[in-house]
Amino acid sequence: MSSAIHRSPLPDVALLDLDLISYLFSNPYNVSRDRTIFIDAVSGRSHTYDDVLQRTRSLASGLRQLGVQTGDTVAMMCPNSIDYPIICYGIIGAGATVSPSNATYTSEEVHHQLQTTGAKYLIVHSSLAQTVKDAVKGTAVQKVILQTGNDNPPAMDGVMMPTIEDLMAQKPTKDLVITPSALLDERSAFICFSSGTTGPAKGVITTHRNIVANLQQWDAHSTHGGAKLPTASVAFLPFSHIYAISYFVCGAFLRGMKTAVMASFDLDVFLNSIQTVQPEELAVVPPIVLLLVKDPRVEKYDLSSVRTILSAAAPLSKELAEALEGRFRKLYGTTVYCHQSYGLTETSPLVSRVSPERMVDKRHTVGCITPNMQFRFIDSETMQDVDMTIQDNGQLPLAEILCRGPNVTKGYLGNESATKDLFHVDSNGDKWMRTGDIATIDQDGYITIHDRIKELIKYKGHQVIPSELEGKLLEHSDVDDCGVTSQYIEDQATELPVAFVVLTAEARSQPQNAVAMNLNQWINERVAHHKRLRGGIRFIDAIPKSPSGKILRRKLKELVTRDRGAS
Ligand code: AMP
Repeated sequence: MSSAIHRSPLPDVALLDLDLISYLFSNPYNVSRDRTIFIDAVSGRSHTYDDVLQRTRSLASGLRQLGVQTGDTVAMMCPNSIDYPIICYGIIGAGATVSPSNATYTSEEVHHQLQTTGAKYLIVHSSLAQTVKDAVKGTAVQKVILQTGNDNPPAMDGVMMPTIEDLMAQKPTKDLVITPSALLDERSAFICFSSGTTGPAKGVITTHRNIVANLQQWDAHSTHGGAKLPTASVAFLPFSHIYAISYFVCGAFLRGMKTAVMASFDLDVFLNSIQTVQPEELAVVPPIVLLLVKDPRVEKYDLSSVRTILSAAAPLSKELAEALEGRFRKLYGTTVYCHQSYGLTETSPLVSRVSPERMVDKRHTVGCITPNMQFRFIDSETMQDVDMTIQDNGQLPLAEILCRGPNVTKGYLGNESATKDLFHVDSNGDKWMRTGDIATIDQDGYITIHDRIKELIKYKGHQVIPSELEGKLLEHSDVDDCGVTSQYIEDQATELPVAFVVLTAEARSQPQNAVAMNLNQWINERVAHHKRLRGGIRFIDAIPKSPSGKILRRKLKELVTRDRGAS
């Protein structure tokens, strides 16, 4: 095999020929039916394993009665709750696909998703009913179904009764729809949104095969060498993102993990939940690692159950990981391993993680390739293979990761050209998915991510797409041209989006602070909270561009670094 191609060092898993519902409900870990699985972190309301089964059957049947058909897409805009997983299973059990929207999205952002998926149904939490009122206009949505969270539903034109709560309480009259094995590679379970390596947010097709395979890959990787899966967890990551869909929405039920669910992040609720449900592992993103290192409130709670802290979705520095391990050592005298896994929406999501037996020496990498996957390393400019063998000077070569495996998406919904760009076809005709991430691989097969060449910005693990912010800025009459990039802020453990703006002649004659304030307000009104220009707006004479007019993002990054050095 070429030294550009690397396999997982772990044995392959025998993949099951099952759809998501059949796999989850086959109860492979023999979870007791009366075990509490999902608990509301604030109210304490909870669902046992059996409650989830019963409510899923009721909801799937109710959705069929309302008209949902096999192959339909049902969009969902709901904050995290203990009912969220049931709504997902109910949709999939009705034969349809779940398209989740982030609960903080603006009406325009939801509209884009509804248009892309052609969803005929939208399930929305009553607190967000106002946002979707405009979002559904001009889309294929025929019915809006409310999740009331047991509150009184607000008045909204065109809202269908019954509500999700009504449907979950009904006696089922129809069977769950099981996707036959011939369709496992065709029918999607989820459509999440991602920019991929370039351009606007696109709907990622996650088939039944993709998600079931990745759940199996995760478990095989996590238990390698006889390690045990965690029995409890605390969930604050947004359930609309693939990391949380895998770990909590599907994984918690599959593995019987008692899971405290938070509607949004609050440090005291998080810490109190850890004390209550006693998870062995915390699944977090880097800014939460930072909070756990710095915040004095950590000492008010008993977190001694924690043995591993898993950070994913964005880079985590070695220093920060070690600082957190040090804090646990000081507080409890215990050894806690703060380690990473690496994944993408397009890979359902896991592609590498640290094996349990290498936590001691490899925890500062993003781990080794997960079972059933292969990586290929290429030069992103020439598309030629890169030999990743250590060089004579002791350096590991850097190259872009391409990957293939059962968890890799077929592509983007209704977007052939973006799907084509996502893959590199080798001389054997094999398709390799481009990640846009630049990495090294050491002699033991452990990966370190060094850079991201794709346009994507990650704010606290959330995707921020530069071209989307640029589009919004260009709609403003003061803006002649613009380019958006990011700046990494160590003391927040995250990247922040920064805009470079060329003002119109008229705007240049105005007080610059006022112009910047107006632009910020303009953006804040149009995008979700996590996409705000927290890194600031900087005025510039011209945006660096290639002769063909493409923004030279590297140059923008250099400008940020230069400004930082000067300040
Ligand atoms: P998403 O599709 O939102 O999950 O974003 C995927 C991207 O997040 C990857 O292509 C990486 O650029 C980044 N990412 C995910 N996990 C890590 C990690 N552990 N370290 C560095 N970057 C990561």
